[in-house]
Amino acid sequence: ALFLGYRMMRGKHKPSLSALDVMETANTDSSVNLDNLKLLELIGRGRYGAVFRGDLSGRCVAVKLFSATNRQNFTNECLIYSLPLLEHDNIARFLTADHRSTEPLIVMENYPHGSLCQYLSLHTVDWWTCLRMCLGVTRGLSFLHTELCRADQYKPAVAHRDVTSRNILVRSDLTCVLADFGLSMKLPGTRSSRHGDDDTMAISEVGTVRYMAPEVLGGALNLRDCESALKQVDVYALALIYWESFRRCRDLFPGESVPEFQLAFQVEVGNHPSFEEMQILVLREKHRPKFPEVWKENSSLLHSLKETMEDCWDQDAEARLSAQCAEERLCDLLTAHTHNHRNLSHGRWSPQVGSSSP
Ligand code: ADP
Ligand code: MG
Ligand code: MG
Repeated sequence: ALFLGYRMMRGKHKPSLSALDVMETANTDSSVNLDNLKLLELIGRGRYGAVFRGDLSGRCVAVKLFSATNRQNFTNECLIYSLPLLEHDNIARFLTADHRSTEPLIVMENYPHGSLCQYLSLHTVDWWTCLRMCLGVTRGLSFLHTELCRADQYKPAVAHRDVTSRNILVRSDLTCVLADFGLSMKLPGTRSSRHGDDDTMAISEVGTVRYMAPEVLGGALNLRDCESALKQVDVYALALIYWESFRRCRDLFPGESVPEFQLAFQVEVGNHPSFEEMQILVLREKHRPKFPEVWKENSSLLHSLKETMEDCWDQDAEARLSAQCAEERLCDLLTAHTHNHRNLSHGRWSPQVGSSSP
């Protein structure tokens, strides 16, 4: 068999496999037999693939089909999923891949609620759920950005490069995972002895225009410290995810109806913004999503939440929080919530209640 078996993925890899090695790895006693794969229903479409709910020997899975012209995207996504030590609670779970057919495919765990964008379009969330969702995404990103060494295994730091609410998936318990590593990039890190990566992609100007950081829009990505620069670009987009999510949080709109879901900048640039429109808005005018009127409330939780978003989408890339730091900020908010919750003996908890001005 030429496909990459599931067992194979669970950690027997040498650290420096190239995408081609991965593709050509024979793994005859794989526990996954793709002959038993059935595609059942189209559940999503992205820029590069169509995603189906499928059945693999009785197990419900998601199958991402890439068109033949997107083989590079497929190869890159497989390469990232095949990195050692990549398994994490907040990273989408890869099962297997098949590159033999004209349409290469990736089989992964099925996330029944689909993308975060789909979920938030249909549902509002309470403060605790919203915080947990955002914290999960942040943990996933922070883990992705981290270089790890364990025994003889090495996980390089990875930049995602296409953080959007369509590339985050939602489990049935409403926890979130980071997905779609088609544009992701291994970062040089401290073990940068490797060279001749055959699938190096253009460093700048990739991703989804709506979520592009000002320095990407300006073509001024700091390539001297490419590692931090690419992480900072991810964190900018993460801030937009926070904004999209908390705008659907019931507890942040006490006594009024929660506004409909909106993608970041949807009001400003609509559904199909051009690169130039985003340049004007985000780079030149330094515009950021507006906080709803009710968030002017002087609660310390709301204040820290807004501050965290602002610190993540800062115009100055180097001033942005790291994903690790954003994770700590959200953890503090979660602790504050638990604390408030315990101390409130009456009524439904909401972030406006029981908190003092900063
Ligand atoms: P692309 O690289 O083409 O953007 P994605 O991996 O982002 O493809 O998937 C496209 C869409 O398909 C996602 O936005 C999501 O709605 C849906 N999707 C992808 N993977 C899954 C999955 N494992 N479970 C459920 N839905 C998924
Ligand atoms: Mg996608
Ligand atoms: Mg993709």
